[in-house]
Amino acid sequence: MPELPEVETIVRGLQAVLPGKRIMGVRLGITDFIEDPSALEEQLPGRRISSVRRYGKFLVFDLDSLSGDSRRLALLIHLGMTGQLLTCKPEAPIAAHTHAYFALDDGSEMRYRDIRRFGSIRILAEGAPSGVLSPLGPLGLDPLEATEEEFRAGINGRHARIKALLLDQRVLRGMGNIYTDESLWHAKIHPTRLGAKLSARELHGLYVAMRRVLSQAIRFRGSSISDYVDSKGTPGKFQQRHCVYGRKGKKCPRCAAMIRRETVAGRSSYFCPKCQRAPKKTRKARRKH
Ligand SMILES: [Zn+2]
Repeated sequence: MPELPEVETIVRGLQAVLPGKRIMGVRLGITDFIEDPSALEEQLPGRRISSVRRYGKFLVFDLDSLSGDSRRLALLIHLGMTGQLLTCKPEAPIAAHTHAYFALDDGSEMRYRDIRRFGSIRILAEGAPSGVLSPLGPLGLDPLEATEEEFRAGINGRHARIKALLLDQRVLRGMGNIYTDESLWHAKIHPTRLGAKLSARELHGLYVAMRRVLSQAIRFRGSSISDYVDSKGTPGKFQQRHCVYGRKGKKCPRCAAMIRRETVAGRSSYFCPKCQRAPKKTRKARRKH
């Protein structure tokens, strides 16, 4: 599932080629994941893409107004589990599960492909940056933009497991399973610890670890676990640098203990049982069994 570094990599690829280009036409295949397919076909043609940016795990395409229609629009795309956004020549072979084609005025095409169709595409009216994003509901701060104080305020005092808090898009926008597990391992924090019980030192360590993991993952162009590729179809390389995620039964790179996988907050979670000590209650509960 594309998380912050994967979406950021795609956005950077698109931002390098799309701004200034005009959408000439929209062609759709299966549309059950698109909020209003006819709005896409009717309202996008003729509009110029002014910028492409990331908001949490969403891609936002800011579109200029048309002459005679002063409304600025934004196209909003979420890649869900298996979404891909690629630019190519229109004669490029069409991959199975391609559901949307955006023809551009330079003759190229942007295609949306999604095997499982958990992604979404929608148009937002009222183009201003803050206005555009209010319909997304209350999303938290971007982990790369949040200050340490803001991060601490979002986590501390919350009686929920740290794993659940990091995944909660209302706390931080853009984190997902991979980077949560990797950040917790680097910070030596067990995923079932409560946010409220983390010490100031642990919170500092987690803040630093999370930002380092995300920045490194962006540098290595994301993690290609299942379907993720960048806007040119190239897989990322960060999966080769995962320390715990997807490494059940392998050795912890820090202490050589065997990495475990357990379900925490409804998600499979990878951690080192030695470097990341379980909270006392969990340890006691386990002894009873
Ligand atoms: Zn370890």
